[in-house]
Amino acid sequence: MITHKNISLFFIFLLLLLFLLNFYIAINIWWFVAIILVWLGINAFGSSRISSNYHVKAFCNNPFEKEKKIAITFDDGPSVFTLEVLELLKKYNAKATFFCIGKNIETHPEIVKQIIAEGHLVGNHSYSHSKFFDFYNAKKITEELQKTDSLLEKFTSKKINFFRPPYGVTTPSIRRALQLTGHKVIGWNIRSLDGGTKNQNLIFNRIIKRVSPGGIVLLHDTGSHSVLVLEQFLQFLQQNNYEVISVEELLNLKAYED
Ligand SMILES: [Zn+2]
Repeated sequence: MITHKNISLFFIFLLLLLFLLNFYIAINIWWFVAIILVWLGINAFGSSRISSNYHVKAFCNNPFEKEKKIAITFDDGPSVFTLEVLELLKKYNAKATFFCIGKNIETHPEIVKQIIAEGHLVGNHSYSHSKFFDFYNAKKITEELQKTDSLLEKFTSKKINFFRPPYGVTTPSIRRALQLTGHKVIGWNIRSLDGGTKNQNLIFNRIIKRVSPGGIVLLHDTGSHSVLVLEQFLQFLQQNNYEVISVEELLNLKAYED
């Protein structure tokens, strides 16, 4: 399997081999540089792709699902837009999963309460969602996860099991933190990119092209454009006989533990 550990071992072996070979035949320094660059490139790719399972195992879809069932997830809330999202989900009888940022839970506790009361799930999306989160050490990441868990657990009364790393980036420190906290990492296989563009049609067309049974969609409950796309998307799913179910049901994993 292509994991951080296996790749590192392979490249260390390769460099050692080249180093030893160097005693017999002169090896150009650029070979060493090239190997290290390829190694760094693989690391960057593996860290930025949540579905690569490079640092941690992430659940990004259910490839065995044959029925028209799909899960929708919302990141970075709760925010005032979450209320509009909840209204739409109710209208279309859809159940979603909200990956909440700890500091936003402190600002909008009543919205988290409503999310849960309306039958949706919540998961951990770090406390700060800092730009520098991927450079934090395992201790700091663990603290953020625990802080957000305890904020959510006030509403669930059960242990939070799902975590989605900010930006979908994973690192060796995140892996170590997760070994302590025991969260399951939930990724996605249908990314809307609604965080990068506000162009409603672009986002909508991007999502529907990728829709298939067992998929997990990533949206954000932080902007009016995402709410507009959601309505269009829920209509599309209804017309195409898709059922929107929770991540828990889609993956057969528990969102909370006693
Ligand atoms: Zn996020």
